[in-house]
This record gives sequence, structure tokens and C-alpha cells, in this order.
Amino acid sequence: MPPRNTSQRRAIRQAIEDADRPLDAHEVLAAADADGLGLATVYRTLKLGVEEGWLTPVELPNAPARYEMAGKQHHHHFECRSCQKVFEVYGCPGNLTPLIPKGFTLEDHEVILYGLCDQCG
Ligand SMILES: [Zn+2]
Ligand SMILES: [Zn+2]
Repeated sequence: MPPRNTSQRRAIRQAIEDADRPLDAHEVLAAADADGLGLATVYRTLKLGVEEGWLTPVELPNAPARYEMAGKQHHHHFECRSCQKVFEVYGCPGNLTPLIPKGFTLEDHEVILYGLCDQCG
């Protein structure tokens, strides 16, 4: 891989690490500090990051995929309805088994909170 790609890749990874919230491809492009970086390279690197296991896609309904560093502790997401930014939320409702029908087995859960962030609220 030519050196230019390596430094772009490093810049993309750094941007996601620094953001401390999941970023979509456009946000990564805006945040990454790399010469000549384009959206196609960002998309390619994000896909590669997921394949290599250091990135986790964050899929929210009706929204472009966001990406965060893999291996974070259990957490949920908050999407701002005004600026569309997604944030990490470390609170968890915990045991949701009482919510499911009798006889069902709960294996996992996702919680997505919607509202306004502190910049928009
Ligand atoms: Zn906002
Ligand atoms: Zn949870």
C-alpha cells in the first residue's frame, strides 16, 4: 500500500478516536486531517476497518451508517433530531426480561434515544 494511503488511513482512524461519538462518512471526511482525502477513500477505509475488526458500524433506522471504535463497553446511542449527530450514552435500562412475552428468551437489546443535544436544545 503506498504511503499516502497509510497516512490517510491513520488520519481517518484518529478522527474517529478523537470524536468520541459515532461518525458517518461525511463527518469523518470533515474531521480527518489528511491531504487529498476523498469520500471514496473514507468509505473504503471504513469498510476495511469493520472487516479488520477495529471499527463497529452503528446502524440507526433511516440514517446513514455511523462508525465507532470497536471494543467499547456496553452502551447505547442518542440521536439529535436537529443536527442529526449521534452520541454515546452509557446508561442502560438493564434487565428488560419483564418486558417480553412469557416463554420468550431475551438475547440482546438496542436502545436508541431521540431528542436534542446540548448544542441544539
Ligand atoms: Zn444537536
Ligand atoms: Zn443496554
